[in-house]
Amino acid sequence: MECCDLLIQDTIVLARSIRLMEHVDIAIKDGKILEVGESLKERFQAKAWMEGRHKLFMPGLIDSHMHTGQQLLKGLVLDAKPIIWTRIMLPFESTMTPERMRLSAELAALEMIRSGTTGFVDAGSYFMEQAAEVYVESGLRGALSCSTMDEEGLPASIAMDADEAVTQTDRLYESFHGQGNLKVYYALRALNSCSTKLALKAAEHARERKTMLQAHMNEYQGEVDGIIAREGMRPYEYLEKLGILDEHFLGAHSLILSEREMELIQERGAVLCHCPFSNCGKAVPDTPKLLEMGIPVGLGTDGAAHGGLSLWNEMKIFRSVMNICKGVPQRNPHIMPAATILKMVLEGGAAALGETGSLGRLEAGYKADLISIDLRQPHLMPTGNLINTLLEIVTGPDVRDVIVGGRVIMENREIKTLDEEKILHEAERRGSEV
Ligand SMILES: [Zn+2]
Repeated sequence: MECCDLLIQDTIVLARSIRLMEHVDIAIKDGKILEVGESLKERFQAKAWMEGRHKLFMPGLIDSHMHTGQQLLKGLVLDAKPIIWTRIMLPFESTMTPERMRLSAELAALEMIRSGTTGFVDAGSYFMEQAAEVYVESGLRGALSCSTMDEEGLPASIAMDADEAVTQTDRLYESFHGQGNLKVYYALRALNSCSTKLALKAAEHARERKTMLQAHMNEYQGEVDGIIAREGMRPYEYLEKLGILDEHFLGAHSLILSEREMELIQERGAVLCHCPFSNCGKAVPDTPKLLEMGIPVGLGTDGAAHGGLSLWNEMKIFRSVMNICKGVPQRNPHIMPAATILKMVLEGGAAALGETGSLGRLEAGYKADLISIDLRQPHLMPTGNLINTLLEIVTGPDVRDVIVGGRVIMENREIKTLDEEKILHEAERRGSEV
């Protein structure tokens, strides 16, 4: 008999190329998927077992762009006029405290685990050490950044020059890169908030440490126009000129792109992600074309202030937007099928986490980041096409178990790594001051 740490028996699996396998077992060892197949229980001696009947096991969802630091802004952004960055986000973040950051991360971690998100990329805020401590404890996989910008006129509490701005990420990197399942990325908040000196220095430090650089990109027309006015070229052309556009660059949003910018992104192998609910007040990306060009594109929530942290919601919204804006005009209802959107979240998300080929698929050799969906519920059965049902109907509460790196962090909806009662009590207590 071979040994494994965890054996999930007799389940349905969402396997490679978004197809289903039925009545299979999953063997997990040393944080990775060892084997997926029939009758593994006859060959493996497992330290722990999990029942898989009436469940679908699939790779955990990956949020390619979120903001832990905006967790306590929930409900305060809807219907606000653009650009909310200067009027709402900036004043809020500049008054962040370590205690608020800790609570934000605790709530974000609970929300992600409960809705089946096993990996995330945080775009950066302040007091990220507090968030990092919570995320290590939670067992989630994530990439964290510090909010990085050096423009004139920022509130005094967060004003810094290019050197200070990069040094704070250096410190976060030294303390937390490689701790638990965490990585640390360098970030540029947005190009128009950052000097060329800062962009070059952040990129250089990311490159030296073999980690990624991320930025909010091409999100608003005004922001694109601002870079054209300042640099005489479009945002991605400017990154190319600086020599910092490569496969270690993650461009969040990336909605308003010229043909030339798309070609540059493709040539350099950069990774993109859209945030459907948040993006609905801004622009519609040409995702079918980006995918056709082979560009990796993930989906993100843009933080809890933009409709919560459930990627199930984002997938539904994205499908609706793509259908009405691309499918209907082109008379092509098949323009963005469920399998493509799931693949964006899973494999596009893996690319955003710098884990292409090691994360985002349920197959041997991949990291064991898995979730299960409880299929034996009236709203999910019967179905003529489970993959369509996953996209159309499944929501966060349908997620039963969450496993990250082979460790069970939620079983039968009970979170094992964080004290949920205590966190909710604290959220209640601090609710009024928020
Ligand atoms: Zn964002």
